Amino acid sequence: MTLFKIGLLIDGTKDKPREACYLAVENDKFTGIGCAQDFASEQLTAAVDYSQYTVMPGLIDPHVHLFLEGISDMKQRAQRWKEDKDTTLLRAVTNLTRTIRQGVTTVRDLGGPFGINVFLKKAVNQGNALGPRVLTARQAISITGGHFHYAGGREADGAEEMTKAVREQARGSADCIKLMMTGSVNFVRQDAGIVELSLVEAKAAINEARRLKKPVAVHANGVDGVRQALDTGITTLEHGALIDEATQEYITASGVYWIPTLVPFERMLDYGRNHQTKTLPAEGVERVYVRHQAMVARAYQAGTKIVAGTDAGALGVKHGDMWREIQLLTECGMPTIAALHAATGVAAEAIGMANEIGTIEIGKRADLVVLDGNPLMDLTNIRKIVKVYKAGKEVFHA
Ligand SMILES: [Zn+2]
Repeated sequence: MTLFKIGLLIDGTKDKPREACYLAVENDKFTGIGCAQDFASEQLTAAVDYSQYTVMPGLIDPHVHLFLEGISDMKQRAQRWKEDKDTTLLRAVTNLTRTIRQGVTTVRDLGGPFGINVFLKKAVNQGNALGPRVLTARQAISITGGHFHYAGGREADGAEEMTKAVREQARGSADCIKLMMTGSVNFVRQDAGIVELSLVEAKAAINEARRLKKPVAVHANGVDGVRQALDTGITTLEHGALIDEATQEYITASGVYWIPTLVPFERMLDYGRNHQTKTLPAEGVERVYVRHQAMVARAYQAGTKIVAGTDAGALGVKHGDMWREIQLLTECGMPTIAALHAATGVAAEAIGMANEIGTIEIGKRADLVVLDGNPLMDLTNIRKIVKVYKAGKEVFHA
């Protein structure tokens, strides 16, 4: 048993942190939380002293693409799609390491080529790679020529093929199913293009995923695409940009988890300002981003379950950039503690792992971040990482 003496504990369940307490870890789980009199004197003397630090649950990023490292240069980025499996795999291993160093102890990879995400999940589980716990969708499913098909996606058309595509991912160790309901945002036209999956295809895929007990993560932007996603009964809505107020209210009423992925929008805006390209005109990107932020703010006020997720691998978004997504959620009016919960306990619910991770409670996996400073007082403290533990084991120290 290891006992930690903690200055400030943010356990992920309460709005107020707990001061000066002890946390016990046995093997990979939390086994006790209490004050000095709850533990034997020899245990207290052997305690690991974090009395000067803040301890919080390991962060969970439910939307990453491990095969891509989030390059900002558009030309370099275009080259990445042509790289071979070995090169891509080595880059992905580096991304894993980077992730854990930023206090992210669980990621969900929502699609990539060569089965790399499944391979990395196994490598981490077997102790052959250092990194966060990996959940994966394996291949993202789109229609033929649909969004992200070029990133090793599974193209499928018609209800039968959609069903088969879902079954293939399940057979290939997918933890969830990723569907590309629409394309990405067009910042010139200010729309998300057509809804790519027909209603019949969307229903077929989602029904099969549900039958196989796999949560469904749906990429959708624009009013029509988001509405079709919600109509069919998804688990998490990914992005959800370019919606109107009525659609935001539908998101709230449907009770889905919304992962708005604010960081990529911020990074695209930076890029647009610095380069003024045809596809990323600064004004156009800004208009979309401002509207997106306003909808997130409105949704939070209305009680929507909002989850922090980075889309790491997207233009300029580095793995482990969860600290920035948390900050951006607070800029949308979420209190800091709510934004931290969105990156821990609520994220665990969204990916179906609430019984195992996301909060510091007895019986859960001991995933911890030790910070030199209280993030509730100053959110920049979330980057002052002293140590990271995953399942009771120290996996990083500054
Ligand atoms: Zn993505």
